[in-house]
Amino acid sequence: MGRKFCVGGNWKMNGSKDSITELAKILSAGPLDPNTEVVVGCPSVYISFARGLLPSSIGVAGQNCYKVKSGAFTGEIAPSMLKDVGADWVILGHSERRAIFGESDELIADKVEFALSEGLKVIACIGETLQEREAGQTEAVCFRQTKAIASVVKDWSNVVIAYEPVWAIGTGKTATPAQAQEVHAALRKWFAENVSQAVSDSIRIQYGGSVTAANARELASQPDIDGFLVGGASLKPEFVQIVNARQ
Ligand code: PGA
Repeated sequence: MGRKFCVGGNWKMNGSKDSITELAKILSAGPLDPNTEVVVGCPSVYISFARGLLPSSIGVAGQNCYKVKSGAFTGEIAPSMLKDVGADWVILGHSERRAIFGESDELIADKVEFALSEGLKVIACIGETLQEREAGQTEAVCFRQTKAIASVVKDWSNVVIAYEPVWAIGTGKTATPAQAQEVHAALRKWFAENVSQAVSDSIRIQYGGSVTAANARELASQPDIDGFLVGGASLKPEFVQIVNARQ
């Protein structure tokens, strides 16, 4: 199967030139497991700056982009602009975009389709809220969100799925390895049944939600967890240990 472990940092709306300089020093010193792909999601205004400081082995991602090439869309950023300043990835469909900025499955699918067509790789985020989990809707919600994304993807080699239960994001309440594995396995089955066995075998599914150096190893040992999307801990030195969770 050989899915390369992939760890993303999601810096969210955090950072400054000073703090990014510090973080880049830590990431450059590593050492980072060469068998793990590493990507950091950087606020767009700092992408160029971060790209200049980070080792070339670390990819840089935007945290959002719009669904058209250019034009009268005040405040928006095009995929080509992210690429122009040094990003090769973009994070789309994060639960904060869905919940705070009202992004629908349909808008996220449009963005995924356009970003891929413009040559960006995509970390596409899905995940249920606590209310949805307690109502027994975890799979239904994750499948609905995945289906919207799958409807526009032709080449899955440039897509990573991030399963991030909303109740685990920024709360310190990590999903247990068994809880995460259960959803990852269900998603992989969904891909086998709705896309293809080949995509099911090769698609990388990251777990996100309060990942720390303390819980990364056990999560990483689950058979269907192929990496992490890390928020809070990606701003700290422990991100190095999370990257190395499979060592
Ligand atoms: P967290 O965030 O690691 O701070 O929970 C994860 C995310 O939102 O991607």
